[in-house]
Amino acid sequence: MSEARFPEETRGANMFFQSRFDCQGSPARVVFGPSSRLRVGEELVRLGLERVLVIATPELEGVAGEIAGALGPRAAGLFVGAAMHTPVSVTEARMARLGDADGLVAVGGGSAIGLAKALALRSGLPQIAVPSTFAGSEATPILGETKGGEKTTLTDLRVRPDTIVYDPLLVSSLPPRLVASSAMNAIAHAVEGLYARDRNPVGSLMAAEGIRAFAAAVPRVDADRADLEAWSMAQYGAWLCGTVLGQVGMALHHKLCHVLGGTFDLPHAEVHAVVLPHAIAYNEAAVPELLAPVARIFGAETAADGLHEFARAIGAPTALEAFGFTEADIPRAVDVALARPYWNPRAITREGLSVLLSGALTGERPARAMFNEDTETVK
Ligand code: NAD
Repeated sequence: MSEARFPEETRGANMFFQSRFDCQGSPARVVFGPSSRLRVGEELVRLGLERVLVIATPELEGVAGEIAGALGPRAAGLFVGAAMHTPVSVTEARMARLGDADGLVAVGGGSAIGLAKALALRSGLPQIAVPSTFAGSEATPILGETKGGEKTTLTDLRVRPDTIVYDPLLVSSLPPRLVASSAMNAIAHAVEGLYARDRNPVGSLMAAEGIRAFAAAVPRVDADRADLEAWSMAQYGAWLCGTVLGQVGMALHHKLCHVLGGTFDLPHAEVHAVVLPHAIAYNEAAVPELLAPVARIFGAETAADGLHEFARAIGAPTALEAFGFTEADIPRAVDVALARPYWNPRAITREGLSVLLSGALTGERPARAMFNEDTETVK
């Protein structure tokens, strides 16, 4: 029998139908809702854990301490030394002092969750993640670690948290600038998910819904920081976008952010916020139809324009130079990005990356005109 073929038009303008795909669902348990951080103890019982190490960054010591306190003797310790980009040195030092802990509870953003994942990889211990940013790491089997100035990522089911506890009260303490950057970080997962080589229709539905959730929620929390429903909606977006990140391979945008974070030690969420409109302008020239949902959500002509305008409207950073990155750094960043590139829907060239990073350096509107020529789509 000949292979079934479907005409292009059956996809429809608003449909994420694909005639062929593989899909790996995420089996993590999710506990979602205001004050759910107080239910971590119930989740320990469910996982059969009796002595957990609670992990956080220094800024989250208060809330992590509250959770550890509520666990009583089931909290074997509190460690508040998690650091951005998960340095292997921190992991190894903590690993040597893991003692008889039988589980890990990460309270915080991607840095706390990253350390728990790194420890889980080495120890096999189960994990509960209680996120306080929108980074989405809690929903992925991905771990990024930094050693010797280079950030490398691995995918391993052992690092995916078993349970995620989403409490909007945790994210509601995020300073406005971090709300904006972290939201753009989550949106980046969804946007790259829409054109991923291994995308699937359910992931694409989640991606579009995740972006919609942030587009609606962030202006609301900016207008009224007491709007708990809007914080919940943003966390819903974070869950959806993080789940997409966990299902499909990422492309040029994430590669550049890993280079800028790992090699230049720039802050993770902020770099995502700055680079996203530029990376999307680069790729939109090759796959405009796959990015059309993003343009529609932001009511813009292109996805890149929509993301650029949204980032500005919510007060996200827009220029790498604000973080100490300079024009002289661009050639090295391009070299590192080209050394081990991720798959990308458009061929990656040295010149293209230099133009992209020059735009991101100063925060100008993504230079569509520069990217429209010589477009090559990678099949
Ligand atoms: P982060 O965890 O480093 O948090 C940023 C800063 O904000 C820290 O100082 C932190 O203490 C503080 N903070 C966090 N939540 C807060 C809150 N509610 N109120 C006030 N301050 C708060 O940053 P991030 O952007 O969440 O995570 C970045 C790290 O996560 C990077 O290392 C990145 O590589 C990793 N990450 C991994 C994945 C993955 O799937 N493996 C996905 C996304 C991010």
